[in-house]
Amino acid sequence: MDYASIVLDIPSRAIGDVYAYAVPAELSGEARVGSTVLVRFGGRPTVGYVVARSRKLEEGLDPSKVRSVERVLAASAFDETSAALALWMAREYACPAAAAVRLFLPPGSSPKVRKREDGSWELTEARLSEPERRWVRRAPGAKDYTPRKDAYRQRELIDALDGGPLRLSELKATLPGVGATVRALERRGVVEVFEGEEAPAHLGETTLGSAGAPQPERLTEGQERALGVIGRALGRGDGSVVLVDGVTGSGKTEVYLEAIEVALALGRGAVVLVPEISLTPQTLGRFRSRFGGRVAVLHSRLTTAERRQQWMAAASGAARVVVGARSALFCPVRDLGLVVIDEEHEFAYKQEQAPRYHAREVAAELVRRRGAALVLGSATPSLESLWRCREGGLRGAPWERVEMPERASGALPSEVSLIDLRGRHEEGSTSFSPELAEALRQTHRAGEKAVLLINRRGFSPFLICEDCGCVPECPHCSSSLTYHARRRELICHSCGSIWPLKPWPDPTSLCPHCGSRYLRAPGVGTERVEGEVQLLLPDAEVIRMDADTTRGAGAHQRLLERFDATPGAVLVGTQMIAKGLDFPDVTLVGVVNADTSLKLPDFRSAERTYDLLEQVAGRAGRGAKPGRVIIQSHWTTHPAIASVAARDRAAFLESELSQRREAGYPPFARIANITVTGRDPRAVEETVAEMAARLRARAPSRSWKVVGPAECLKAKVRDRFRHHVLVKAPVSAELGPALFACARGLGGRGVSVAIDVDAYEVL
Ligand code: ADP
Ligand code: ZN
Ligand code: ZN
Repeated sequence: MDYASIVLDIPSRAIGDVYAYAVPAELSGEARVGSTVLVRFGGRPTVGYVVARSRKLEEGLDPSKVRSVERVLAASAFDETSAALALWMAREYACPAAAAVRLFLPPGSSPKVRKREDGSWELTEARLSEPERRWVRRAPGAKDYTPRKDAYRQRELIDALDGGPLRLSELKATLPGVGATVRALERRGVVEVFEGEEAPAHLGETTLGSAGAPQPERLTEGQERALGVIGRALGRGDGSVVLVDGVTGSGKTEVYLEAIEVALALGRGAVVLVPEISLTPQTLGRFRSRFGGRVAVLHSRLTTAERRQQWMAAASGAARVVVGARSALFCPVRDLGLVVIDEEHEFAYKQEQAPRYHAREVAAELVRRRGAALVLGSATPSLESLWRCREGGLRGAPWERVEMPERASGALPSEVSLIDLRGRHEEGSTSFSPELAEALRQTHRAGEKAVLLINRRGFSPFLICEDCGCVPECPHCSSSLTYHARRRELICHSCGSIWPLKPWPDPTSLCPHCGSRYLRAPGVGTERVEGEVQLLLPDAEVIRMDADTTRGAGAHQRLLERFDATPGAVLVGTQMIAKGLDFPDVTLVGVVNADTSLKLPDFRSAERTYDLLEQVAGRAGRGAKPGRVIIQSHWTTHPAIASVAARDRAAFLESELSQRREAGYPPFARIANITVTGRDPRAVEETVAEMAARLRARAPSRSWKVVGPAECLKAKVRDRFRHHVLVKAPVSAELGPALFACARGLGGRGVSVAIDVDAYEVL
């Protein structure tokens, strides 16, 4: 008899990891590792995934008690290595094994077993729509069409198509609203739309580097060095990690492209992860123009059917390079040799729902198990990665850092100045120092563009009562309400509830606590700064970009179009403007309030602030004209701010590393956050207290520290009370299995327990 080890698709931590089932002879060929099967468990049919096959039953199990696999529901989707990686993730991140295994299945495969009214069981599967089969390419006769200056989307589209045809679905996912642009250009004979299942034949045959891709004539010295190190890592195939530490514009993307060519020449495939926000048509165009039809794209805005199609292309070997967000890591690229993670410091690589994995950590483990190499790229690498490079490695795999300190174009770095805001507040109450105001005037006069950053993380405009000091809060959540001046509304950003404020004497305009009519908004918001720029520069086009103005589909893109098209325009926005914006005529970047994000009770807040300032500073002076960066702050001596101005990252790193070491935070320790939530506050408190007690009782050594339990900073969200307990443990600690064991049997009946190993968000 043959046996299979099967992970049951039951979303419960109470269920053990892997169960043994017998494989009847007639299913022996089909029920392979990676296939989805139907088995009986606890008297009901259950979906499961085969993670191992063996000839012998595990020691101690009684063959007469072992049930048989009943049916094979889906063919094998992953191999032994992926199965082992999934089980590693389940242990590492203390999540149910099925949740980890499901990541490796093709998009849209979710067979479920449901009980019918008559008591029998039925198997259901999600129905998928037809995938988009249309492609877009430039029409051969219209190579010299030049879009109008203000036709931003047309230009984006044409630039992207310069490298070759693109799938319409990918264009739509990365450039919202592009459908209309394609139709308009099709009418004018500039582009053509055609149908095809696979990439067009001539694209599939593209030979290495000869597709007319805009390849630079010569690599820079830094690029050569990086490729040397990556080439050796690929050759060793020992799970090496190479950190490409290169300033914005140093040509990191070019390094990735070249490295992929090396991998392909060795007969190996590649996965490239980029933050979703950077997955633009240009980025895709660069990969398509180099690797043609051998590229598959995974993007959350593609339909499930389209993602499934791309996944299948990788599985069949037709696609050798997969570009996508976080989850592309689990796509079954054949003979994987190289994984690239661009902007590796981005917090978006940490998944905030179960399984709460970090793509960088999983990728390091993946390349180790597959004998591949991992390339991490960033202008502001994470402290974790920098530290591991200093230490020389992790779990036996070598980590090495390569610097690329110069822009590939030769453009000079911008000049950065700091404005100390202390004591300036009383003068006149605008958000701009005289220096920033003057720079804005000069820039506008010269017809150049400016970007103003409102660093608003954890600091939204709110209302405060001048009489009693009360700040209106959401009754369902414990967060203070955000004040939107233009619409005169209070909005809860945790649950989305809205309260209109009618003018006095309507009771909504009064303090909910003392009835005073003196509620005012002290915070600096984007709306307020937008108004102030308009006062300062009455004839300038001022464009505001924040969560409110970018809500609709394509709104983000339309705002960028307007900014691009208008000389002398000023873009005012939150964090979202710091990334990816690349307009050559931005010569001034102003940071209105650099230090707001430093005040969050989060040990990574200094790192976040440093990254943000560095990234936004990189937005200035990308073209021929030099750029200028002005940073306003009440805390100019803080290393996260001072070192951006001094262009001295080492200073920031030394100070931050020594603080982290002293306080016992990553990269010198691991930290896990266990959050317990529920509507019944007593049940929540009892559960979290029990969890903390178990953690204290079972901590394997004194080097583990259990902090709490305590109310979360967001003590209530959507009427659910939230408490948490933190665990700090040595870097080498096996946190996952210990936490998993402690949480066993906890929760249920409206109380949920979420385990977050290597937590990023502890609010
Ligand atoms: P990064 O990803 O580091 O921000 P990119 O790879 O996007 O940098 O390169 C920045 C710009 O420099 C791009 O316009 C790119 O075409 C150009 N570039 C890259 N490498 C070279 C090179 N070796 N010589 C000239 N230009 C280059
Ligand atoms: Zn009051
Ligand atoms: Zn709320």
